[in-house]
Amino acid sequence: MNKGLRIPLIAGNWKMNKTPSDAVTLVEELKGAIGRQTQVGVVLCPPFTAIDRLGRVLEGCTIQLGAQNMHHEASGAFTGEISAAMLRDIFVRYVILGHSERRTLFGETDEFINKKVLAALKLLIKPIMCVGETLTEREASLTLKVVGRQLLGGLKSVPAEEAESIVIAYEPVWAIGTGRNATAAQAQEVHAFIRTELEQLFGKAIAQKIRILYGGSMKPANAAELLAQVDIDGGLIGGASLEAASFIALIEAARKG
Ligand code: PEP
Repeated sequence: MNKGLRIPLIAGNWKMNKTPSDAVTLVEELKGAIGRQTQVGVVLCPPFTAIDRLGRVLEGCTIQLGAQNMHHEASGAFTGEISAAMLRDIFVRYVILGHSERRTLFGETDEFINKKVLAALKLLIKPIMCVGETLTEREASLTLKVVGRQLLGGLKSVPAEEAESIVIAYEPVWAIGTGRNATAAQAQEVHAFIRTELEQLFGKAIAQKIRILYGGSMKPANAAELLAQVDIDGGLIGGASLEAASFIALIEAARKG
């Protein structure tokens, strides 16, 4: 099976970087270079404070906006949190959920992430749900077990008819921000496993439509090999999404992918 109808997706996770003004500067540059192409889906996930302003800068172009997190409740006494409805209102179309930094630094569990996945889908925001093993888990040959558990937990009760809009990001924790990416073979092995698990959950036809991104030190130098793998449908990019030149090069690599 080849990549079929899956349109590659490159999503930039800016993490806690860039003021709204810095964000506008970067986005103006991206807009000029790739703001009209349609061969690769492009999503930018800036900090919450920059989303609204970037929405206005991006008006009329093909780059879409994502958030880095959200809360599952619709509103209420959750100091410091942001709901799906608030994101939807400022034209957010994707949300990163269960990033390993949220799992480790903020104690997010599969159960909590699952609530967010369901809440995002309800408001037609596409979850980019992250899964991935630590180095200790990989060395103990637990990679597939951990990733399988995160997938089943995070996707619990997702109706098959909504599953198509989910994006899975396989991000080995040991590769995030370390400069040490998974090899293409290592990544493909896990991506193929994820696709098989998705088949079990939602059926073959739907699993073939779900995009599975690789994340973890993806950069122009290693992207082509990773993106050429049959089950790698794009990338979730941290460091290399903070500069226009490297991000644009990754989009070009995904186009050739
Ligand atoms: C990430 O944080 O999602 C990520 C993949 O970061 P980096 O590309 O910097 O490894």
